[in-house]
Amino acid sequence: MEDRLQPVFAEVLRRNPGEVEFHQAVREVFESLGPVLRKNPQYVEAAVLERICEPERQIIFRVPWVDDTGRVRINRGFRVEYNSALGPYKGGLRFHPSVYLGIVKFLGFEQIFKNALTGLPIGGGKGGSDFDPRGRSDGEIMRFCQSFMTELYRHIGEYTDVPAGDIGVGAREIGYLFGQYKRITNRYESGVLTGKGLTWGGSLVRREATGYGAVLFAQSMLGTQSESLDGRRVSVSGSGNVAIYAAEKAQQLGGRVITFSDSSGYVVDEAGIDLDLLKEVKEVERGRVSDYVERRPGARLVAEGSIWDVPTDVALPCATQNELTEADAKQLVANGVRAVAEGANMPTTPEAVALLREAGVLFGPGKAANAGGVATSALEMQQNASRDSWSFEHTEARLAEIMAGIHDRCLATADEYDAPGDYVAGANIAGFTHVADAMIALGVV
Ligand code: NDP
Repeated sequence: MEDRLQPVFAEVLRRNPGEVEFHQAVREVFESLGPVLRKNPQYVEAAVLERICEPERQIIFRVPWVDDTGRVRINRGFRVEYNSALGPYKGGLRFHPSVYLGIVKFLGFEQIFKNALTGLPIGGGKGGSDFDPRGRSDGEIMRFCQSFMTELYRHIGEYTDVPAGDIGVGAREIGYLFGQYKRITNRYESGVLTGKGLTWGGSLVRREATGYGAVLFAQSMLGTQSESLDGRRVSVSGSGNVAIYAAEKAQQLGGRVITFSDSSGYVVDEAGIDLDLLKEVKEVERGRVSDYVERRPGARLVAEGSIWDVPTDVALPCATQNELTEADAKQLVANGVRAVAEGANMPTTPEAVALLREAGVLFGPGKAANAGGVATSALEMQQNASRDSWSFEHTEARLAEIMAGIHDRCLATADEYDAPGDYVAGANIAGFTHVADAMIALGVV
């Protein structure tokens, strides 16, 4: 990190003690910004960096609910409304026991630049709760979502803040959240949440968008070297929304997807995974990866060790933050990996990113590679605003166009700042300058 950025970063550390994921996310962006400040002194004069690190608003609230045994439970809810220079706050809700303010702020901070990169009119925000949905009944999930929305509703709206899903929040949870919002406000305000079901305001392709987008991004990166996914071994981690549809698009493009995982272990299926079976296990039955292995001859479950030990050409981390470590990166490089595209947010540790880049592996950071989800959420908002719904083909074509635009913008920006082929620098700088220019135009607010 350049000297002039050090005091700003020191202040971020001082003001946000203990929020290690947030510190990591800020450092990662700051490390790209030295040349930007040299070229654009107006960002320093207007204190854009200091302002962009401080969320516009942070809401923390109690979420009381009653479990199936009649016991009263208390969770903590969060919504961090980070930056609205480009549009209403936009970003998902995460329900996972690891959620605390530092996780929500890292995700919200990343979201500002990711949303800017899409070129669509959306600001950055994120939220969630330390609620653990695993093992909870449908009734418990519903009551939790209703209680969560009973506080959240007063902070959100189609022109204010538009949440969506993330880990632990899919179409079922968005349904319960939307139902409670509608009940409290007496408004059928479709544009207040995205990721809705198709019969009540959702968009085709939203479910698939993040995973599809990450694979399209990987394909574009390979394309710069006259390579493609066709015939390649592809490793996916996770088995949730992003992982499943990354696997689907990789298969459509001719890749052989050989792995997936959940928190109980990873599966290796050398014949190429049976996607219908995986969807049945994960989307319908809400089962574990072992349920897949029981029904799939030739597949094996590995409970210990790292999924990245499996030799692969293209790695798509699609589970959670810091899941691909320096040791994993070393192993991937030793096994000849060609490209890594982040479907998850910040899944690759900084040491692993450095190692992959030094080894000449094509590396697509999440800000760019997984922006297809939020971009398609913005398309859902467009459809809601015009009371229209687009076909799958039309929406997927828009997604492909947006992903190609992000890829090309990252490369062009990297070139402009003398870092050819560096997608990390390209994504950080292109996202940052887009937001910074808007912040300056809007004055000190
Ligand atoms: P899901 O809840 O659908 O799936 C998450 C998957 O990751 C599950 O297989 C889960 O396993 C696994 N996982 C989560 N936490 C851990 C952990 N600590 N250790 C091991 N495995 C873990 O979430 P999504 O697919 O929506 O999100 C995945 C990633 O993609 C996240 O980083 C999210 O922020 C990012 N993302 C999501 C977008 C979206 O549109 N949904 C958009 C952009 C980014 P288990 O069930 O056992 O916990």
